[in-house]
Amino acid sequence: MTVELINVGTELLLGNIVNTNAAYLAERCADLGLSCYFQSVVGDNEERLIMVLEQAMGRSDVVILSGGLGPTEDDLTKEVAAKVCGRKLCMDEDSRARIERYFADKGLEPTENNWKQALVPEGALVLENDNGTAPGIIIEDERARVILLPGPPGELEPMFEEKAAPYLKGLTGEVIVSQTVKICGVGESRAETMVKDLIDTQSNPTLATYAKTGEVHIRVTASAGEPKEARKLIKPVVKELKNRFGQYIYSTEEDTTLEKAVVDLLQANKLTLVCAESCTGGMLSARLTNVPGVSEIFKGGFVTYSNKAKRKTLGVKKGVIQKHGAVSRHTAEEMVKGAAFVTKADVTVAVTGIAGPDGGTEEKPVGLVYIACSVKGNVTVQEYHFKGNRARIREASVTAALVLLRNCVLEYFSKVTFGK
Ligand code: ATP
Ligand code: MG
Repeated sequence: MTVELINVGTELLLGNIVNTNAAYLAERCADLGLSCYFQSVVGDNEERLIMVLEQAMGRSDVVILSGGLGPTEDDLTKEVAAKVCGRKLCMDEDSRARIERYFADKGLEPTENNWKQALVPEGALVLENDNGTAPGIIIEDERARVILLPGPPGELEPMFEEKAAPYLKGLTGEVIVSQTVKICGVGESRAETMVKDLIDTQSNPTLATYAKTGEVHIRVTASAGEPKEARKLIKPVVKELKNRFGQYIYSTEEDTTLEKAVVDLLQANKLTLVCAESCTGGMLSARLTNVPGVSEIFKGGFVTYSNKAKRKTLGVKKGVIQKHGAVSRHTAEEMVKGAAFVTKADVTVAVTGIAGPDGGTEEKPVGLVYIACSVKGNVTVQEYHFKGNRARIREASVTAALVLLRNCVLEYFSKVTFGK
């Protein structure tokens, strides 16, 4: 079954707002096993909207439109859809009552044009809006099923989840279940090569790889009549991925982030942690403290940005910085050892690098970062060369620090070695 998206709004065409509805709907439709081959953006213009809608209905099974359901003159999606499907607009009494209640609850008086939102094309299904006034609408035309959703994401997303998605599931008669295998410390192209044969030969479940900063996620998606059957199809494929990626997999749980996996690992081994950060300026500590319950293991973090701070707080020797520079293997090592000495934490991690845009030299270019990790006195220092702007380099450094931290703890306890 194919789906096509049409996002309506002149603001979208002008680039005044970012089309997040398209990304959201595309991803959710893929989750539901619908194939999306076309997406369009069209302004608030009747003639052009008719044109794209007719084309979409001619070539896709389901057409989802977003935006233009509001009460104002320029909101014309519903009127156009009714016209294209040859349906009259009639007052929907339930929607009318909901709009009345919506305004009464807010202590406001509806204006005349608000009642326009209670008009629905004849024979259409109405999707109640729990977060606004414009109801969503489904028109089952012979050519295609047309689904109209409100533009504001705060209205569109819950309406899609609660009403449109169950409707779409009912159409396909299938359930889609997916599981994500989350990998760190393996580059995207290498990960893809390692599963290329599976991607090429599998059709149910399918495999797709997604690259994140410093991570690769492989999503395994199966469709079946029942969730249980779908899970049964997924299981052997996930097992095969575990064989291939081993310790590089940090989780197969939907809501486990890399930082959560790291915190869990430290907790399981009863290890306390301290960070000493230069170029990441506290971002590593911030990411770790995203994890609820981190207080059990996280003692604190130092932001030692200047050379003086590195010396005074962590005891990095002046001579080391003078001889090798603040961004060097030696300074990273001194930082990580200093943090361990000062705090007595079991595990310490230190980051020092050149995030740019200035400060790079031929010998030490922007993007050069050293990360050190100490696990009970066993120190590892790694050199990295990140690409991109300042924000990307800092973000990549944080992820790399988490990966190194994880690898060092695993190596310490299980004697596995990670390819470096
Ligand atoms: P309203 O009742 O608020 O007028 P509407 O259904 O008529 O809702 P629009 O007027 O097209 O929708 O858009 C209203 C607001 O919703 C926009 O100003 C924008 O903030 C948001 N919005 C609309 N379309 C999108 C989109 N494709 N992606 C992200 N946000 C959007
Ligand atoms: Mg509007």
